[in-house]
Amino acid sequence: MESVKILIVEDELLIARDLSQKLKKQGLQVSKIVSSGQAALQAIAEDRPDLVLMDVVIKGEKDGIDTALAIHEQYGIPVLYLTAYADDATLQRAEKSGAYGYLLKPFKERELLTTIRIALQKHQQVQEIEQQRIRDALTGLLNRRYLEEALQQECRKAERLALPVSLIFIDIDHFKRFNDTYGHDAGDHVLTTVAHLLEQNVRQSDLVGRYGGEELIVLLPNCPLDRAAVIAEGLRSEVSLLQPHFQGQFLDSITISLGVASFPLQAEDAPSLVKAADEALYEAKRAGRNRVVVAQSSVPST
Ligand code: GH3
Ligand code: MG
Ligand code: MG
Ligand code: MG
Repeated sequence: MESVKILIVEDELLIARDLSQKLKKQGLQVSKIVSSGQAALQAIAEDRPDLVLMDVVIKGEKDGIDTALAIHEQYGIPVLYLTAYADDATLQRAEKSGAYGYLLKPFKERELLTTIRIALQKHQQVQEIEQQRIRDALTGLLNRRYLEEALQQECRKAERLALPVSLIFIDIDHFKRFNDTYGHDAGDHVLTTVAHLLEQNVRQSDLVGRYGGEELIVLLPNCPLDRAAVIAEGLRSEVSLLQPHFQGQFLDSITISLGVASFPLQAEDAPSLVKAADEALYEAKRAGRNRVVVAQSSVPST
């Protein structure tokens, strides 16, 4: 609880200050006090709090419930209502706003603390379930379903903002040999080692996922083809330098083949971007493995 940061949305400054003091006394941090929905959303964008305490009647166009809904949809940060209003219409709207609790003023300090703790626990569970939904259990990388959704979204965004998005399709060379020579667990270890290396060598905003088997994908938003090719070559080189070992035994060195393609230069939509990168990867395999091939085909101009 010590490092928990709380945003207070409250239009009466005296109440907000009193609340802030109580929270601080309990060792909680108050990131900011704001009095309108707009200011709340701005404060969240600038400095993500862990929890929001939300009054219902506040300043500005959006009331507390509309603001809570926007916070829920845009950030998924837990919101707790602290309000003097409990009429039926307000309660009904609050129930549909994705919030984590509703505390009626005046409340006891102890009640507030417990409600905050429960909300934080629930939120942690929600996040864990969400991670399980989007991640591959073995490598911890994003799973194929999530990747495909993200790819669609990134292509739409790229179109809207006129920015390129690139994709690197990766396949571990002769992976079957690791399984056959050292056993399936060693094979799993090789796969996980490559997965972590990829994650450590790309930007935070890039997405790394497991497409299937020993096929991995790096999705690079706002990255042109030539830049993606340089990144792919860097990944290839880093993997080739690994000295993999498993249960006290050194394994053969690992190599990967990579296919690179870019939207909208070489593909007209998300599936054809995957296809273009996959074809380039196939070309890399055919040409002898442990290499990067950049997709050649381009979308015909009309
Ligand atoms: P290439 O260079 O042509 O890609 O050869 P390869 O041996 O890597 O390719 P192939 O497709 O023949 O074999 C892939 C193997 O990967 C077969 C499959 O048993 C294994 N595999 C797929 N998923 C996993 C996994 O999660 N763990 C382990 N240990 N092996 C896996
Ligand atoms: Mg108020
Ligand atoms: Mg392979
Ligand atoms: Mg394969």
